[in-house]
Amino acid sequence: MTARSFPRGTILGYPRLGRKRELTKALEAHWAGRLTAGEFAATTAEIRAAIRERLVDIGLGRDDSSIPESFSLYDHVLDAAVTVGAIPSRFDGEIDAQTDEVDASFALARGRGDLAPLAMTKWFDTNYHYLVPEIGPHTHFRLSSNRLVRDVAEARAAGFVTRPTIVGPVTLLLLSTAESNATDGFQPFSRLADLVPVYARLLTELRDAGAEWVQLDEPALASDVVSVNASRVLAAVESTYRELGSTPERPQLFVSTAYGDVGGALATLAATPVDAIGLDLVRGTIPSRIDSGTRARLADKTLVAGVIDGRSVWRGDLEAALTAAADVRRLTSTVSVSSSTSLIHVPHDVTLETHLEPRLVSWLSFADQKVEQVGIVARGLARGSASVRSDLEAASIALSDRLGAPGVHDRSVRARISFLGEGDRSRVPWEQRREAQKRTFGLPPLPTTTIGSFPQTDRIRQARARYLGGFDSAETYVTVIKNEIAEVIALQEELGLDVLVHGEPERNDMVQYFAENLEGFDVTLHGWVQSFGSLCTRPPILWGDVSRLGPITVGWSRYAQSLTSKPVKGMLTGPVTILAWSFVRDDQPLGDTAAQLALALRDEIADLEAAGIGIIQIDEPALRELLPLRSVDHEHYLAWSVAAFRLATAGAKPETQIHTHLCSSHFGVVLDAIKKLDADVTSIESAHSRMRIIDDIAASGFEHDIGPGVYDIHSTRVPSVDEVTELLARAAEAIDVERLWVNPDCGLKTRGYEEATASLRNVLEAANRVRQRVAEQQAASPSAR
Ligand code: GLN
Ligand code: ZN
Repeated sequence: MTARSFPRGTILGYPRLGRKRELTKALEAHWAGRLTAGEFAATTAEIRAAIRERLVDIGLGRDDSSIPESFSLYDHVLDAAVTVGAIPSRFDGEIDAQTDEVDASFALARGRGDLAPLAMTKWFDTNYHYLVPEIGPHTHFRLSSNRLVRDVAEARAAGFVTRPTIVGPVTLLLLSTAESNATDGFQPFSRLADLVPVYARLLTELRDAGAEWVQLDEPALASDVVSVNASRVLAAVESTYRELGSTPERPQLFVSTAYGDVGGALATLAATPVDAIGLDLVRGTIPSRIDSGTRARLADKTLVAGVIDGRSVWRGDLEAALTAAADVRRLTSTVSVSSSTSLIHVPHDVTLETHLEPRLVSWLSFADQKVEQVGIVARGLARGSASVRSDLEAASIALSDRLGAPGVHDRSVRARISFLGEGDRSRVPWEQRREAQKRTFGLPPLPTTTIGSFPQTDRIRQARARYLGGFDSAETYVTVIKNEIAEVIALQEELGLDVLVHGEPERNDMVQYFAENLEGFDVTLHGWVQSFGSLCTRPPILWGDVSRLGPITVGWSRYAQSLTSKPVKGMLTGPVTILAWSFVRDDQPLGDTAAQLALALRDEIADLEAAGIGIIQIDEPALRELLPLRSVDHEHYLAWSVAAFRLATAGAKPETQIHTHLCSSHFGVVLDAIKKLDADVTSIESAHSRMRIIDDIAASGFEHDIGPGVYDIHSTRVPSVDEVTELLARAAEAIDVERLWVNPDCGLKTRGYEEATASLRNVLEAANRVRQRVAEQQAASPSAR
C-alpha cells in the first residue's frame, strides 16, 4: 500500500457539544435516567455523524483523513486514560474488563457511591478542564477500550476516512498524577515503557479499522510547567516515537503540538520516524529560528502549519496566515495548513448569532468559520495567493474595520490610562490598614465568611428567564432578587456568620454579568464552549475599550447592607478572571486590556465605599490559569496581572478591607504574585486538596490575613464538625490564628440550600470549637502573646 499524503488542510479537533448542545442535553438526560444506554449511544452516534457531514459541507474532505475523529463523551484525557486501562485501583471490583466503557468513563468522571472521581484541572492555559488520570506502579496498562476504533469504523461505514486523534503517551503521563497509594516519589512518567506498547497496539487496530493517519496530541511539549525535567521529556519523546514509528503495518503518524512553542522537542521529533509534525505558529514556533540541524531532518517530513488561531474568535489576518504557512515551506516541501489548536475552545458557528450586530459578526470566526479559513489558506498555499485574493481581501477589510471601529479606541479611557503612576497602584502600608480595619470592624478571632454566591435556585433562574423573555417587568425581577437577598442575609445572621454577602442572585455568571454591564463587550446567545463534561460556558466577547456606564453591583450591595448591622462584603470579579473567561481582543497586549478593566473596577469600588460597603472582595480564581506555559514568560505575565489587581484596588481607603479569592488551580507557582496583590484578606481553595497549600503559604512568608477553605463545595457531602475542626486545626498550626479566617473553598452557587446550610452550620460550630481551644491555650500561656 502506498502511503497517502497528509491532507492539505485540516483542524486538530472540533467542538463536541453539537450546534444545539445536543451532547449536553443527552448527557443530562442519560444521567437522569431519561435516556437508556442504547438511546444515549444512538444520540451520540447521530452527533458524530452530523459533525462529519457538516465538516464536509464546509470544506474538509470525505476520504482524505482531513476530518479529525475527535469526539468525546466527557473529556479527551479521560478517554485516553480509559483506552490504555489507567483505572485507579480504588475502582477494582467496580470497573473490570466486563464493564461497559461508557459506564466506566462516567464512574471515573463523576465518582460512584463512596468512590471519589478523578480530580479535574485546567488544560494548559485554557479554561477547559480535564480529568487527571491516576497512575501507580501497578497500573495494568492494556488496550481496554475500542471507542476510537469503533468511531473510525463507524465513519468508514458511512463512507468517510477520518483521522483518529488521541492524547499521546508523553502528554498523558505528564498530565497524570500518582495514585494515592503509590510510594512517595513515584512518578507516572516512570511507566512510559509499559505504556507505549499499548499505543502501538492501538495504532494497529486503528489501521485495521481503516485509518490511514493517526493524530497523537503532544501539547505538553509546549509547556515547561510540568513535573519532569526537560531532558527526560526529550528522551521520552525520542524513545516513544522511535518505538511507535517502528510498529509494523502502522498507519501514518501525525504528532501535533499546540498551545505554544514546541522548543527543543521539534529537533527530537524530527529525528524519529513520525511522518508529520504539527506546529502552533500562532502562539509560538517561529520557523526562521529553527536551527540547521533540525531543518535537515525536517526535510522529509510533512509539517502541519497551525496558522489559524484555534482559540480566538477573531476572523484575523488571512494574508499573514498564508505568509506564515509559506515560510514553513522553506523547511520542507510538504506543508499542510491547520488550526493552531483543537477548535474545542470556540463555539460552533457564528452565523447562529443572529441577534448580534452584523458588523460585529463580520469580525468574528467560530469553529465552522475557522474550518473555512483553513481551506482558504490551504488553497492559497497550493495555487498561489492570487487564487484566493478575494477571500484574503475580505478578511483584511473586516480586520481594518474592526481596528478602526468606534468604541475600539475610546479616547477618554486611553487618556486616563496614560496619566497613571505607581502611586495609583499602591495603598498605605498594610500594618496601618490593619489597625484601621481592626477599629472599623471589630471582628472576633477566626472571623467567618463565605465566598460570595449562595445557591442559584430554580426560582432565581426562572425569574431571570421570565424577565429576559419579556414576560416579567424589570420591577418584578428586581423584587424577586431583593427577596432572595433578604433571605440570604437572614440565613447568614441566623447561622452567625461575621462577614455577610448578598449571595449574587443577580448574576447568571461572574464574568458575563460584568460583561453585560461594561462598554467594550458583547455577549452571544449560542456561543457555548465546553468547560468539562456537560458543563458549558458562554464567554463574552471583549472587542473594544472597556469602561463603566455606571454602578454595577452597588444597588444590590447597598440593599443587603441596609438589612443588617454586620458588614456585608461587596463582590467583584477581578480583571484577570474577566480576561481569562472572555474572548479577548487581540490588537493590543492583554496587560493593556487588563488595565482598562481595572479602572472600571476601581470606580465600582469607590462607589461601593460611598454606599457604605467597607469590605470588598475581588475574585481572581483565574490568576493561575493564564500563567504562560514557558517559564521565561512568567515574570512579564505576573507583573501586568498583579499591576491590574493593584490598580483596581489601590484607590480604596485604608479602612476598606480588600479581600481576594483564588481557587480551581495549584497556586504554588504564583504564591509570590499572590503576596504582591497586597489584598488584606485572601481566601483560597484548600479543603478540596486537604490543605496541601497551607504549608506552602506559610513557607512563602505571606503575612496578611488568609482564609484557607475548610468546606469542599465541589462535593454534595456535608462535612462533619470534626472534619472541619481538624482542617482548621491544621491551618492554625501553620498560620498564626490572628490572621486566620474561616470560609468554604468557593461560592455555593452550585449547591442546594439544604446541604449548604447544614455544611455552614458545621463550619461555624468548628470555628467556635477552635476559637475556644485557642482561648484556652492563650489563657494557659499568657506570655505567648
Ligand atoms: N464570588 C464567586 C462565587 O462565590 C467566586 C466564584 C469563583 O471563585 N469561581 O461564586
Ligand atoms: Zn472560587
